[in-house]
Amino acid sequence: MSRVAARLGTLTLSALLLGGSAQAATLIHAGRLIDGISDAVKTNQTVVVEAGRITAIEAGFRTPRDGDRVIDLRNGTLLPGLFDMHVHLTGEYSKSSELDGFKKNEADVAIDGVVYAGRTLLAGFTTVRDLGDAYRASIPLRNAINAGKVPGPRIIAAGKAIASTGGHADPTNGWARKFPADPGPDEGVINGVDDARKAVRQRYKDGSDTIKITATGGVLSIAKNGLNPQMTEEEIRAVVTTARDYGFKVAAHAHGAEGIKRAVRGGVDSIEHGTFMDDEGMKLMKEHGTFYVPTLSAGRWVFEQAQDPNFFPPIVRPKALQVGPQIQGTFAKAYKSGVKIMFGTDTGVGKHGDNAREFKLMVEGGMPAMQAIRAATSVPAKFLDIDDQTGSIAVGKLGELAGVPGDPLTDISVMERVVFVMKDNTVYKAP
Ligand SMILES: [Zn+2]
Repeated sequence: MSRVAARLGTLTLSALLLGGSAQAATLIHAGRLIDGISDAVKTNQTVVVEAGRITAIEAGFRTPRDGDRVIDLRNGTLLPGLFDMHVHLTGEYSKSSELDGFKKNEADVAIDGVVYAGRTLLAGFTTVRDLGDAYRASIPLRNAINAGKVPGPRIIAAGKAIASTGGHADPTNGWARKFPADPGPDEGVINGVDDARKAVRQRYKDGSDTIKITATGGVLSIAKNGLNPQMTEEEIRAVVTTARDYGFKVAAHAHGAEGIKRAVRGGVDSIEHGTFMDDEGMKLMKEHGTFYVPTLSAGRWVFEQAQDPNFFPPIVRPKALQVGPQIQGTFAKAYKSGVKIMFGTDTGVGKHGDNAREFKLMVEGGMPAMQAIRAATSVPAKFLDIDDQTGSIAVGKLGELAGVPGDPLTDISVMERVVFVMKDNTVYKAP
């Protein structure tokens, strides 16, 4: 932790010093350039960033003027800054997570979030969708990053996720009855359409950017079933129609086939995990244009941890063993059948900064590397309606960029070794 923090501090400081002259440009000399939209890879290009925006893309390696900074990525590949459409920046699951819920205060969670946001940015991710936090801490974290107070990715924040009583995101599952344990819409727990509407309106009041619901059971909650439907279609539709009033999109966590179908029919914009999605579910998603965010890394991670019989609480372990290995096969099938896919990891389950491992799993599941890169750049940018600003490399777009050594089209694992990160006219990592 201290090494990363120190590194962020030094790099931010040097970036500020180097960025002192108003005329100075950052010239990125890229051996290969993948722009996030085209299938074509350009070679030997210079991308020029001035005052945070891309002002030129030229063939060859432009000679710097006085004060310009050159990023030497001649042996690597320049990409748009990456998107992870499913993270939880205010936590990281560990053996002590169950107890941490009772020991950590708001400030602990907020400071953790700052550290994890920094690690995420240094891994090349310049935009994330945070789909459920603690103490709504992703919202002030988003604001602090936007204000330039702390380094981190652009955050599209859901705030507290919405569940039903005893559902996956009911924060009081497993508590002894002596603790106050019947939360309502304010804490993101709903029963019925009135609660559903109120919970969405509360998220608007909190300052959320998007809505997350848990339509079925989940792996890591202290509850028996990881697959059962936990909202009625009526409740889901009430969430979605209310969300539209406030310009929110709705993401639905769903593992079981029935809950997936209810969520799609209820009008959600994305299905998260989708573990036991059946043929009918895939057909419905294509009809409705619903995106699938597979979170393969989370499935892999929980399955790996579950090999240690003492890592998870006893009620969680069988779910981790059941759900973990299933997602990869579902992803392969969904991709083949033509369901729209966006890159998302569920990081927080697994370590922040390891987000790019998802690329390798997507390619193993049959998706071509270029398409996996688009699923983490221009596709989510368009989904979030920010594609006029970011998600691709083009003149006029923000200088949100990531660089990797070598060629991800021949070795996708280079995505896990990001050597260059730029955002907000600041170079956070340079080769
Ligand atoms: Zn999640």
